[in-house]
Amino acid sequence: MRILVFGPQGSGKGTQAELISRKYKLPYIATGDIFRFHLKSGTELGKKASRYTDAGELVPDEITNEIVKSRIIQPDCVNGFVLDGFPRNIFQAKFLNEMVEIDWAFLIDLADEKAIERLKDRLACKCGLSYHLLNNPPKVAGICDKCGNKLFIREDDKPEAINRRLEIYHQETEPVIKIYQDRGVLYKINGDQEIKKVFADIEKNISLKK
Ligand code: ADP
Ligand code: ADP
Ligand code: ZN
Repeated sequence: MRILVFGPQGSGKGTQAELISRKYKLPYIATGDIFRFHLKSGTELGKKASRYTDAGELVPDEITNEIVKSRIIQPDCVNGFVLDGFPRNIFQAKFLNEMVEIDWAFLIDLADEKAIERLKDRLACKCGLSYHLLNNPPKVAGICDKCGNKLFIREDDKPEAINRRLEIYHQETEPVIKIYQDRGVLYKINGDQEIKKVFADIEKNISLKK
């Protein structure tokens, strides 16, 4: 089960990818989380990437493609994975498609204005989970339900970087979605519903083809 999740920033990709990963026992791979991990750990890669991530620009493909490749060849990915945040342009899609066949590409559809509204109250955890102050609060304020770490507001969830990220999404990532549509593996999901309803729609499409 090789699954991709697309959608504008704030549409709920990470939230849904985590639910898919839990239900189907697949590794959840988010390129953004990998970059944030390197940044926090102060690695060379983190330093190189931060120039781009801070501004909401895409990290160069040479760097990103290698990170994804080295992750999906790990033994835990033999039965599949859920990939969130990759591919984001047609070069990355080409690179991925040469390595593996994708079974489901979900597009979480949500208008930019609604996505921006959600990001205002997003709380993130370094384990990859995200919460929302009102829509999806953690059980204990400020603490991740899953790993117990402290939640934080992402550096790039400020208005300037959000607008730039959405612009890149429409310019560079939307053409990628077309590639999966042409291959017959794209499933468009209404993202403007409760979290569990969105997930139910995803499950329905998975069970139809599983
Ligand atoms: P993305 O990975 O697409 O940027 P997230 O999964 O981080 O999006 O979700 C963005 C914010 O919206 C988070 O605060 C999350 O808790 C919240 N959220 C996710 N899905 C929904 C939903 N269906 N309805 C309301 N809020 C949601
Ligand atoms: P979002 O989707 O909410 O913008 P992510 O957490 O997915 O945020 O990614 C954070 C940052 O990491 C991006 O703004 C970008 O700089 C970098 N990044 C993540 N995925 C990719 C990718 N596939 N290609 C290039 N850069 C990426
Ligand atoms: Zn956590």
